[in-house]
Amino acid sequence: MSAKNHFDVIIIGAGPGGIYSAYELKKTAPNLKVAVFESGSALEKRKCPIGSNGVKSCIGCKSCAIMNGFGGAGAFSDGKYNITNNFGGTLHEYIGRDTAIELMQYVDGINLSHGGEGTRLYSTANTDIRKLCMQNDLHLLDASVRHLGTDINYVVLENLYKELSSSVEFFFDSKVDKVKKTDGGYEIEVGNDIYSCKKCIISVGRSGSKWMESVCRDLKLTSHSNRVDIGVRVELPYEVFSHLTEELYESKIVYRTQKFQDLVRTFCMNPHGAVVTENTNGIVTVNGHSYEDSAKHTANTNFALLVSKHFSEPFKDSNGYGESIARLSNMLGGGVMVQRFGDLIRGQRSTESRISESFVTPTLKATAGDLSLVMPKRILDGIIEMIYALDKIAPGTANDDTLLYGVEVKFYNMQVQINENLETELSGLYVIGDCSGVTHSLSHASASGIYAARHIAQSL
Ligand SMILES: Cc1cc2nc3c(=O)[nH]c(=O)nc-3n(C[C@H](O)[C@H](O)[C@H](O)COP(=O)(O)OP(=O)(O)OC[C@H]3O[C@@H](n4cnc5c(N)ncnc54)[C@H](O)[C@@H]3O)c2cc1C
Repeated sequence: MSAKNHFDVIIIGAGPGGIYSAYELKKTAPNLKVAVFESGSALEKRKCPIGSNGVKSCIGCKSCAIMNGFGGAGAFSDGKYNITNNFGGTLHEYIGRDTAIELMQYVDGINLSHGGEGTRLYSTANTDIRKLCMQNDLHLLDASVRHLGTDINYVVLENLYKELSSSVEFFFDSKVDKVKKTDGGYEIEVGNDIYSCKKCIISVGRSGSKWMESVCRDLKLTSHSNRVDIGVRVELPYEVFSHLTEELYESKIVYRTQKFQDLVRTFCMNPHGAVVTENTNGIVTVNGHSYEDSAKHTANTNFALLVSKHFSEPFKDSNGYGESIARLSNMLGGGVMVQRFGDLIRGQRSTESRISESFVTPTLKATAGDLSLVMPKRILDGIIEMIYALDKIAPGTANDDTLLYGVEVKFYNMQVQINENLETELSGLYVIGDCSGVTHSLSHASASGIYAARHIAQSL
């Protein structure tokens, strides 16, 4: 193998996990030869065809511009960096609570110095909203959140790429097919080409979950099944939640249902935001985001209400369960379905005319339908209970015209066995970010990248 194809460190995946690994490696050990392989495109080439040349819905591109490429799944996200151990992953269980928070703060500092200065940091510290929640059987989770917004998030990524590209070799449109263990480290196969390295970091995110399973099989790495979160996206007038969003931006509120004792939680709150669709391996689900730029604000706020499902023996395929529910909604609605809360409670489907007469204008064109034909009763009952509970702290949540889009599914990667260095059972092979099953957020994935990079820099 030519020296050209040999690196000290190879990083697979250029999402937040991969980017911050590269950043920290270059900062702490500038002489190391580092390469990043990414199956998607460079940032400026990431263009979803929907909306151009008459393309109205997902056409299943070979590489999805929304999920793949420099910036990973986070590139067009709302850019909410939550600094907390309470949600977004369980990184703290591996590296300790204080270290996890320090690293998330460190990432925040990098974001600020690369274009994010001037964005607001929201915090739950000293808020009266916690008490209000408790008085109504709801629980507010502690966090600080930096809201970059989709636009500033993009600027930060552009600046990081500019800085890194002079010293890190980036290979775009280069899907890694195989990872092999060698005597001195690792070899990766990219089409007909082979590259080698001393240390390898895998950070292929959720979109790389199936590939990650094959890596675990090939290299005999231990992994465990994980959970799946199923729910709906709620959309209502901005004013209903404004007392929460203006102070906290995003509030993670948890409720235990009376009927089944399940935990229902709010997730990904987008004041003045828009509801969007997401396509994961051909399955269309719902998501949401919002812009920092007030010119792009809508009149609505959206957030998800999710219920986690863990399965024990004999069923292990949590993601398969979530996929089946999403497929059912795709079958009935041709994609995402929308229903007014009032229609759901009266047991009637929403129709186009009922939605158009509604006082809430939907930000996503979805098929009017009946979510009770799609969602398992236990999950839907929990969501309805939670909407009534939220109505006590944000009156108007349980209004007839509140829109529910379904389904929102959060798939999790299986959990790969890693140690306190985020290293697998094979020395020198690190699995970080969402593909490890340990993180599921921008801040945790980024922090895991910094952590692994520091460990590698020390060991080399
Ligand atoms: C619409 C949307 C909005 C979101 N909003 C937020 C938010 O506001 N706040 C938040 O905390 N989180 C948010 N998330 C989640 C967040 O984006 C992820 O948690 C985060 O991006 C995970 O980072 P990662 O580096 O682990 O993986 P990813 O960002 O998924 O990056 C993995 C990269 O690896 C590449 N890859 C996959 N397989 C291969 C292979 N075989 N070879 C080479 N490359 C490969 C992929 O193309 C991808 O670019 C959002 C996600 C979506 C989809």
